Amino acid sequence: MKRLFLCLFSLFIIFPFFTARTPVFAEQPRVRLPVVMYHNVLNGRQGEYVVSERQLESDLIAIKKAGYTFVSAKQVIDFVDGKGSLPQKPLLLTFDDGNYNNMYYAFPLLKKHGACAVFNVIGAFVSASSNSSQADNPNYSHLTWKEISTLHKSGKIEIGNHTYGMHVYKPRFGVGQMEGESETQYRAAVKEDAGRLQTELSRRSGVTPVVFAYPFGKYTTPAKEELLSLGFRMLFTCNEGVTTVVRGDSTTLHYVRRFNRNGKMSTKTLLEEIESGKHIPVDS
Ligand SMILES: [Zn+2]
Repeated sequence: MKRLFLCLFSLFIIFPFFTARTPVFAEQPRVRLPVVMYHNVLNGRQGEYVVSERQLESDLIAIKKAGYTFVSAKQVIDFVDGKGSLPQKPLLLTFDDGNYNNMYYAFPLLKKHGACAVFNVIGAFVSASSNSSQADNPNYSHLTWKEISTLHKSGKIEIGNHTYGMHVYKPRFGVGQMEGESETQYRAAVKEDAGRLQTELSRRSGVTPVVFAYPFGKYTTPAKEELLSLGFRMLFTCNEGVTTVVRGDSTTLHYVRRFNRNGKMSTKTLLEEIESGKHIPVDS
């Protein structure tokens, strides 16, 4: 009797697995995607949002040595769309805010190590830099429309939208909803702002981004819906951790997690975060 029970019990456990689960996995492979978020890259400087050239190079070497392959956002989107495959251990690099030092210091290192990356740019900063006579200072300048075009044409750098004018704390915190603002007004404001940068990038730099990075990692459901309606496919948060992307499920690209590459952290710790998928706080 006990044996019969066990037999029935195992059928009960195994049967649904073979009938329902296996085909689902076969049609929808899941891939673990670590994404690293950099900001400034400066010579010999380190901070929460600054890494030195040496740290970046050390990261690139260590990531490759650990068996990861740098992939583009397009490769990840294509995979989800069922149009291509991903390497066994893919990893995506992102650089936020469109700092000129990303072109001056990071771009040559990325090329040297065969890496690609996403540069998420802010329209208001790009516009100011493009109209400034003091552009191209790695310490404080931002990329210009022309430099963005050059990076895009390299085929190594993808351009992401980091809002036109919502990279501010006040009166609106990132793409958050303001007090007293109706949902209709709020949705229109988000759509207008991100759409404005799309138009400017398309007109001035010849690129139409399909990825968007939430300033300060602030996201909301209405903002997500408006961004998707503009044609964005992949939305980056600042939530630390690793994202699992699933073939056939584009919603797995809507809250992509990223590890902030704090300059006070060693390459070894960064790699531990990537491998474990867990955030390791750094003493500052
Ligand atoms: Zn930012």
